[in-house]
Amino acid sequence: MDDREELADALRGLAGALRHHRDLGVTEVPLSAAAAAAPPPIDAAKALAAQEAALQGCTLCKLCRSRTNIAFGSGNPRAGLLVVGEGPGEEEDRQGKPFVGRAGQLLTKMLESVGFDRERDAYIANVVKCRPERNRNPEPDEVAACNPFLMAQLDTVRPGVILALGNFAAQTLLGTREGITKLRGRAYEYRSSILVPTFHPAFLLRNPGPEYRRMAWDDLKLAKREFDRLAAINR
Ligand code: URA
Repeated sequence: MDDREELADALRGLAGALRHHRDLGVTEVPLSAAAAAAPPPIDAAKALAAQEAALQGCTLCKLCRSRTNIAFGSGNPRAGLLVVGEGPGEEEDRQGKPFVGRAGQLLTKMLESVGFDRERDAYIANVVKCRPERNRNPEPDEVAACNPFLMAQLDTVRPGVILALGNFAAQTLLGTREGITKLRGRAYEYRSSILVPTFHPAFLLRNPGPEYRRMAWDDLKLAKREFDRLAAINR
């Protein structure tokens, strides 16, 4: 590669990095070496709003054909807890917000049972942002198409703890085919967060046996312990 090609290559790389930062909501790039070493704090609310705006009219997968609204995410952009579900249901599709139906009501109660306040402590998102018809499971191409948006949400909120609800969220994030019953009950290091898998509230609504609820409560207590531990370190 000659010098001109090398320079063009470097500039293309720089342009790509700057585009990525712009999509995350970074509006200024400091030029001093010290400032460059510590990237500027992202305005998370603005960044999430920009990501949501960028997603409007998305046609990256076939879920666009049946959706009414995109349910991008909701909650505190600076939350220490990020909850990841599977995909919007009927009510979420209607309102364009995650977990606002029956499963969402149970989720709110589950969070409250260990002392989380949904609005204050959590940001809530899904693996796919558009409703699969008749609430079928999302397909691999749909999960893959939506994954960069979930990763951008994670990189923006930068939660201490991620609560992964059900098989889809846990398997997608951890990159495994293992089922939720095997995965739950412990915490995993995931990127710069601690990930705690647990049962999906919709599963708990279908299987209201006390043993499942007890296991979910144990997982939530684990998530809260990790949340408090990290909050104490960062205080
Ligand atoms: N189930 C999910 O996984 N996500 C929602 O937003 C609602 C129900």
